[in-house]
Amino acid sequence: MQRRPLLAVGRGNGVTQPLWTATAAPGPALSALSGVVDTDILIVGGGIAGMATALHLGERGLRVALVEAGQPGDGATGQSGGLVAPDYIRHSPETARALFGAEAGERLTGMIGGSGRHVFDLIDRLGIACDARRDGFYTPAHTEALADNQREYAAQWRARGHDVAFIDGDEARRLFGADRYCGALRFAEGGSLNPLAYVRGLATAAEQAGARLFANSPVRALERRSDGWTCRTPGGTIRAARVVLAANGGNAALHPAMRRTTLPLHVFQFATAPLDPAQREAILPAGGGFTDKLPYLFTARIDGHGHLVSAFPASFMVSGNARLYREARRRLAQHFAVLPAAEIAFLWRGLARVNTSFLPEIYDLGDGAIAIQACNGRGIATNSVLGAEVAAFLATGDEAALSVQPRSPAPIRFHAAAALLPKLLMSIAYLSN
Ligand SMILES: Cc1cc2nc3c(=O)[nH]c(=O)nc-3n(C[C@H](O)[C@H](O)[C@H](O)COP(=O)(O)OP(=O)(O)OC[C@H]3O[C@@H](n4cnc5c(N)ncnc54)[C@H](O)[C@@H]3O)c2cc1C
Repeated sequence: MQRRPLLAVGRGNGVTQPLWTATAAPGPALSALSGVVDTDILIVGGGIAGMATALHLGERGLRVALVEAGQPGDGATGQSGGLVAPDYIRHSPETARALFGAEAGERLTGMIGGSGRHVFDLIDRLGIACDARRDGFYTPAHTEALADNQREYAAQWRARGHDVAFIDGDEARRLFGADRYCGALRFAEGGSLNPLAYVRGLATAAEQAGARLFANSPVRALERRSDGWTCRTPGGTIRAARVVLAANGGNAALHPAMRRTTLPLHVFQFATAPLDPAQREAILPAGGGFTDKLPYLFTARIDGHGHLVSAFPASFMVSGNARLYREARRRLAQHFAVLPAAEIAFLWRGLARVNTSFLPEIYDLGDGAIAIQACNGRGIATNSVLGAEVAAFLATGDEAALSVQPRSPAPIRFHAAAALLPKLLMSIAYLSN
């Protein structure tokens, strides 16, 4: 279907709202918390993790209330690139097996590998209109050595029943319209979506399932009482037997054990004006999206309006609006010969939180409190699954529902200095790019 192109709003001279705010249908109108609410389970945070948990708890008939500081999707979810990426960031099925043992390692790999299918099946079941594209996710290789590893990784995934293939350099050049790569892994069950439309759709479905959702309700205090947990927002109070912290970077301010457990990864995400037909034919002509494995990573996908969506990590080397737009254009020109001077219509800031394992984590905080801390710049698919699994665990009390074994959080050593590391490393990576 040919869609009406959207007006470009970036004009090259300032950071804009995310593209998705212009393309996602409105979510449910949510009021702020007021007065006192008693419930069984309190969720803090209305991104994918919190909203998926609320949905599945509601569907299981539990009394659940969710409080969000702003609107659903205001955090990393609505800033993201929308890639549905059913792959490890740093691991492979075999390294996960070596790290966690056969049972837990295979369980985790099954969850990650099946996470794309989970997302698209959920979207189908709920009828969420979020430009969902089940057309593949790729991780291109920029060196022959990585390409060799990827041949091996493809075999590992396939041996476990996942539709993952290695494609050679010629095919990668044809499928991406970029000639920088010598091969790629193709995850057939990955793809992309409009992340803001997706989380708003989850919110609508969660409300319909009976979850009580409150927006514009930042939790200022979370206290453990003898009879459960109490959270206070400027307008009200929620009392609950159990609590799920799904506030991503905000978790640190809610529970002392969550302090210093993640590092900030600042990213500039951007989108071009809708591509013309010749550009569409040259770039990702068969659909799909990719993220390469370079430290100063490159990523690309095209949405239903024809915007090419990409990103670059923040560094100390690129600052000031004019340079940000220049860098966005430079990166596109570097990869796509047909985009020597693309028009950048949207350019927005994003803040991902990374942990030291680069794996999704569930933390057991004791006293009926758990935290989902699984951003790592890759949480759209995994957080959707974790929400369903955490709901199953809370409903049944059976830890076997979780593919990620809950553990206690550990603070990152020398956190204040470490927090500067991502930007520092990206500055070095920028210089060698
Ligand atoms: C620029 C960028 C690009 C990305 N691209 C991709 C991608 O292409 N594919 C992918 O899989 N992942 C991507 N990610 C990662 C992905 O967006 C995240 O992993 C995922 O959205 C995290 O979901 P979440 O629910 O855990 O956190 P969030 O979406 O951050 O939600 C947490 C919510 O908690 C709320 N909150 C915080 N503190 C409080 C409080 N005290 N009281 C109440 N509410 C509070 C926040 O307002 C926020 O809405 C990207 C991330 C960024 C930043």
